[in-house]
Amino acid sequence: DIAVIGSNMVDLISYINRMPGDGETVEAPDFALGCGGKGANQAVAAARLGSAVRMVTRVGNDLFADNTVANFERNGIDTTYVLRTAATSGVAPIFVNPDSQNSIIIVQGANSLLTPADIDAAAAEISRCKLIVLQLEIPLETVYYAIEFGVKHGIDVLLNPAPAQPDLLLSRVRACTYFTPNESELSLLTGMPVETIPDVRNAAHTLLEAGMRNVIVTLGGRGVLWVADGVDMLLPATPVEAVDTTGAGDAFIGCFSHYVVATGDIEYSLRMANRYAADSVTKRGTQTSYASKEEFALLHS
Ligand code: ADP
Repeated sequence: DIAVIGSNMVDLISYINRMPGDGETVEAPDFALGCGGKGANQAVAAARLGSAVRMVTRVGNDLFADNTVANFERNGIDTTYVLRTAATSGVAPIFVNPDSQNSIIIVQGANSLLTPADIDAAAAEISRCKLIVLQLEIPLETVYYAIEFGVKHGIDVLLNPAPAQPDLLLSRVRACTYFTPNESELSLLTGMPVETIPDVRNAAHTLLEAGMRNVIVTLGGRGVLWVADGVDMLLPATPVEAVDTTGAGDAFIGCFSHYVVATGDIEYSLRMANRYAADSVTKRGTQTSYASKEEFALLHS
């Protein structure tokens, strides 16, 4: 089993002709509601591929919470620790202009109230899992505590340090098993430039020197670099016609988590994640672009 301890959001997507100015009202031709949040996205990807996933997260006491819980249930995710909170749910009003540029507002809402005590409350269930998956849309203290929990119980921990968070203390997360920044997160955390592949390598190696075990850097259309003790492997991306790259990173993490738990083979899991995330960028939307186990099997048969 996989425990995802992280965020959930409801995306409120308005397709606009232009942004309103201060005090102005404009009409938008279209609207869509989507399920998102990095934690939820990663959980959905892993569950669609067949993993048993337990979600530890906080939702508010509102319609958005009902929508989020129903979405987890549709995807077969265990919702015992999807905790109702006297707060608003996490929501993301998103404005997409005619050039497909996104302007996004994130309201963390209940996500900012997920605490170490919530992990303790779910301890029995989490400790039955083989992997804990974390991102940075919940309080950092909760992330640190989840890593300590994993270490204490001998459970592997994957930390996806997204969104980029300058306050993250590497000294408090270096015990994770897998650390998976993208290029900009890697640059922010190391203070090093990350443009060329040699730049990426250098920066990733400084994280190994800081005590990390597996540093996995996702590189968009360039694929993924994995460095570990005695390992330095660049796996190129699967060539595809990219339509919408939103949520590609989460597709990658969810798929990698599924396969690494199922097989224990990191290289194989990275190859599968490269294919799964590439497929997701050929389709619009976030979770709507994540293939099921059957769809994914057809792609690589
Ligand atoms: P994030 O969305 O977190 O910034 P990346 O952009 O690094 O993440 O993308 C994550 C993964 O998605 C990449 O490692 C790759 O496997 C896949 N991917 C992203 N963009 C493309 C693309 N244009 N073509 C093929 N694969 C892609």
